[in-house]
Amino acid sequence: MLAMDWPQVLPLLAGLMGLIIGSFLNVVIHRLPRMMEQQWAKECAEFSGQDVNLNAELNAATKAATEPAPVLSLSQPRSRCPHCGHPIAWHENIPVLSYLFLRGQCSACGVGISLRYPLVELVTAGLFYFCVARWGGSFTALVWCGFSAAVVTLAMIDWDTTLLPDDITLPLVWGGLIAAALQWNIGISLGDALWGAVGGYLSLWGVYWAFKLLTGKDGMGYGDFKLFAALGAWFGWTALVPIILMASVLGAVVGLGLKWSSNLREGGYLPFGPFLAIAGLTALFFGPQSILRVMGLSL
Ligand SMILES: [Zn+2]
Repeated sequence: MLAMDWPQVLPLLAGLMGLIIGSFLNVVIHRLPRMMEQQWAKECAEFSGQDVNLNAELNAATKAATEPAPVLSLSQPRSRCPHCGHPIAWHENIPVLSYLFLRGQCSACGVGISLRYPLVELVTAGLFYFCVARWGGSFTALVWCGFSAAVVTLAMIDWDTTLLPDDITLPLVWGGLIAAALQWNIGISLGDALWGAVGGYLSLWGVYWAFKLLTGKDGMGYGDFKLFAALGAWFGWTALVPIILMASVLGAVVGLGLKWSSNLREGGYLPFGPFLAIAGLTALFFGPQSILRVMGLSL
């Protein structure tokens, strides 16, 4: 029999938990942008509803156009195959295993299931395993698991939609400040975290306006400022330079690669959030200063 004591079992349990949380993150990644769209459509309809009363026919037309979609939430309705609408049974929804068992195909229509679903589950599991293996059964491990889950979700949503929802970025900023205040973080004082958040936001805000005044174009979105502010809150202000350097270099390399292989999407816009997220996770694994060392910039 394999003898394992509690400290060795704990990271494995955290990894299993990560698979389940990762499965939920897939739902958030898929639905949250659609829920936001529904909310915007509703607000637009309410706003325009004020003056279309003059014209009853037009009013009926807008109503018909805005009404049919059923309200989406994270729990309702049940998950379905996006191709054929086959409702996904519980045994088809087990993280990673179901994907292997179904051989990556919908059981009803046989259309391929994207590999990214099990990948998001495995990445989340790996991050949870790492946090608990490193910090044991502590609040530090718990808050960094939360950080990891939020960052993975933001990276995927931004890649898909070029949106970084406030519903995730703002709590992530507060989470970093609170973790520092409670000393659940890794030796980052509340001052370091606060100036990290302020510096992260203002630096990208400054770059945004400089770029806009010089070229008349939007280089990035306000979501990027908030995500960078969150990374500043979690790693402290001293991590801002390494993180932004790594994200910029990665973004430039991937952007050039996509351009060279003519895979760049329409308008040539590449979301910046995924690169900030990768730099943030690298800082989590190796420490922010190691990024500078790898780039040969460390003193
Ligand atoms: Zn199907």
